[in-house]
Amino acid sequence: MPILNRSRGGTAAAEAPREERQMARRAQLVEAGVSAPADSQTSMAGRWRLLETCANPQCSSGWLRLWRSRSGPIFEGGWNCSSGCTRARLEAALRRESSGSGEGAAMRPHRIPLGLTMLEQGWITHPQLRQALEAQKAARCGRIGEWLIRRCGIKEELVTRALGLQWSCPVLPLDLREAEGLTTLMPRLFVDAFGALPLRVAAGKILYLGFEERPDAALALAVETITGLRVETGLVHGSLFRPTHGRILGQRFPAVELVEAVSEAALAQAFARAMERTQPVESRLVRVHDCVWLRLWLQPQRGPVPETALIKDMIGTLGLDPGRHNKAEFKDWRGVPIKTGEAS
Ligand SMILES: [Zn+2]
Repeated sequence: MPILNRSRGGTAAAEAPREERQMARRAQLVEAGVSAPADSQTSMAGRWRLLETCANPQCSSGWLRLWRSRSGPIFEGGWNCSSGCTRARLEAALRRESSGSGEGAAMRPHRIPLGLTMLEQGWITHPQLRQALEAQKAARCGRIGEWLIRRCGIKEELVTRALGLQWSCPVLPLDLREAEGLTTLMPRLFVDAFGALPLRVAAGKILYLGFEERPDAALALAVETITGLRVETGLVHGSLFRPTHGRILGQRFPAVELVEAVSEAALAQAFARAMERTQPVESRLVRVHDCVWLRLWLQPQRGPVPETALIKDMIGTLGLDPGRHNKAEFKDWRGVPIKTGEAS
């Protein structure tokens, strides 16, 4: 059952020190020969690439790309000589992505509760905290920050700043005009399920990714791997975040295909079939919490943000009973079911 839940399994991996994870990931990509998708078709690189052989280390064909009628598909910077080799490389990538699960679980840092953080800063008083906690307990819902705003008249700015202290991240400004052009940086399902808001791309290199309650490090790392942009996360004031998030979800996103498979091998086969059909000029695979995200570039990308029509996303999950796959079972970060008819 594909529930996109960031509090389960794979999440822990992303709690490891961010720098360490990013360095390991970059080293992995360099080793795999992955370059930016935009570079893959430049004329010099293109000429050299004709002399390359199959990127599957187990391949024994010895084919040069030059002598084969197929120029694609390209996966993580390497050419695949046959559908079997495409599949073998996808299987290896899926193994690589799943091997990271659980890693860093012991390193999950302890966080001081929001109320105490605000108390420590002198932004609220003891009676205010008590009042908010009692209101939360009586209502059995809502976050403590919301009750502090509602019952005690605490400014939202202070609550967001305290969340920023809790998660050691900045509070980011929001410019909707920029944000609307950034829907191609990740699938709509992730924007919805993980409560993420792409805010802007600075200098063509840094993507600012906003969240309402807490930054999602696993998603940030995945977006970094796929887009090649450096991703900086931060918080956005809830009253600005929610309407903007709603508007972004109404925008056009790249085409997405959801695949639920019984095993990694079956998932690799489904992905390989799509790659053989579409012959992408580049493709990349990364794990995001409980699912894997495969992005296919159908044409070379110009500039830091791809165009909607040039890319296709596939989101794969492992389920026990694909025959009973109910797409309505995707849930967002608050546990609200997502209508996947709206997934693209
Ligand atoms: Zn091969």
